[in-house]
Amino acid sequence: MINSLQNRRVQIDILRVPLLGRFLVWKHSRTAAQIILFALAAAIIIDGLLGSQLAPKNVATVAAWVHYRGLVAFALLIAGNLFCASCPFMLPRKLAKWIGRPTRRWPKLLRNKWLALIGFVGIIYSYELFDLWASPWLTAWLTIAYFATAFVLEAFFTRDSFCLYVCPLGTFNFLYSTISPLKISARNLNTCRDCKGHECINGSATQQGCQLELFVPTMKSTLDCTLCLDCVKACPYDNVALAVRPPGDELFRQSWPNRLDLALLAIFSAFLATLNAFGMTPPVYDLEARLATLLFTSHESIVLGLIYIVGAILWPLALTYSAAWLSKTLVASPLSLNRLVMRYAYGFVPLGFAIWSAHYLFHLLTGFMTIIPAFQTFFAQTLGWALLGEPNWELARHFVPTVDAIQITQTTIIYVGLLMALALTLHSARKTHRDRGKALLEALPWLILVFLIIFTSGAIFLLPMEMRGSALGG
Ligand code: SF4
Ligand code: SF4
Repeated sequence: MINSLQNRRVQIDILRVPLLGRFLVWKHSRTAAQIILFALAAAIIIDGLLGSQLAPKNVATVAAWVHYRGLVAFALLIAGNLFCASCPFMLPRKLAKWIGRPTRRWPKLLRNKWLALIGFVGIIYSYELFDLWASPWLTAWLTIAYFATAFVLEAFFTRDSFCLYVCPLGTFNFLYSTISPLKISARNLNTCRDCKGHECINGSATQQGCQLELFVPTMKSTLDCTLCLDCVKACPYDNVALAVRPPGDELFRQSWPNRLDLALLAIFSAFLATLNAFGMTPPVYDLEARLATLLFTSHESIVLGLIYIVGAILWPLALTYSAAWLSKTLVASPLSLNRLVMRYAYGFVPLGFAIWSAHYLFHLLTGFMTIIPAFQTFFAQTLGWALLGEPNWELARHFVPTVDAIQITQTTIIYVGLLMALALTLHSARKTHRDRGKALLEALPWLILVFLIIFTSGAIFLLPMEMRGSALGG
């Protein structure tokens, strides 16, 4: 396999940057970052369970629903999967591994993203149903449940099965890290060809290899890469780079394996992003009321469940398979419908990322300073330790951009996502057809679908949105 690969020169290697590179390859750099996020997760749990239950005053709701999501999107855009690199769940998982000494492999049937996708839809659904953004207590319990699941699975299964097959947060990061500008890469493939131990995946006496089962010289995608840098530390030839690449490079190269779970993950996530943003606007309440009357029910779980089943699963399936069928019919393509869905799924990555980012940025910008009085309240009132002084709520009103500025930023993000999605869709068509006319004809249904999603989300962002978790929102 390695012999058939062509060496690609690494132009810029972040690990060669003075100081930063040394810090990243330092033995304890990851643990240091994990300790910081672990302390934050502990604050979320303690304040969520014991602190004020007013969402903007509590670290649990402000950190989890305002800052975490916005900063993750920002990190993915400027660097890569930094959250997984410093994941706080890893610390207790080390203990679980030590206690459980697992020998079982993750079941073959579940070695895909279906479980993680169900978990992802489930979290977004629960977020709306239980108003998690308004409940520090439930947010704390969600964090505890997350720690407990990761702990139990780590004790039973080898490698990082939880990250690879279960974690919805990691799956979000894996998916959208494919447009990030950083990737793990071999510096010189000739060195890998001569390498006998393949320590980057197998590990050495002192350093574990890639627990996500990625083999550096054959890596074409950042999907599943947690940026843990274990491979960098394990390679005895110092042959692993953290290379800079053009954003979206691997999507244009269509580097993913042909797997329906990956394709539908990208597609469902784009629709889910639109649905999640829609959930913050006034028309959703009107829709819920109408459905409740139609179904003769007052249970929000049923009404919302129906909206999510249709909006996040059935509607995307109907639209994408209709687009695939139209493509196939228009150019008499020999490809199956599934193969066409896999081929055009790449365009949904920047599309989904733009919609999530525009949404999360709204919360981050409107509630950015709220984290300071929330922490002041946590120390002064929950812990009884006025380390940061008394809460200053005036601070929360500083640095809040105007509505116009926020909408201009959101629109810019949406249009950049749209342009990239259009380029990827046309590029996918050109992969099969040299004839431009035929390529355009095959791409046409997908281009219409891309426009449909982007204009729907654009219209949603122009509606008044709830300022969830922000002190300005009450
Ligand atoms: S251990 Fe280093 S040299 Fe060997 S295959 Fe992995 S990256 Fe290449
Ligand atoms: S070991 Fe290397 S390839 Fe594997 S997840 Fe960590 S950084 Fe990515």
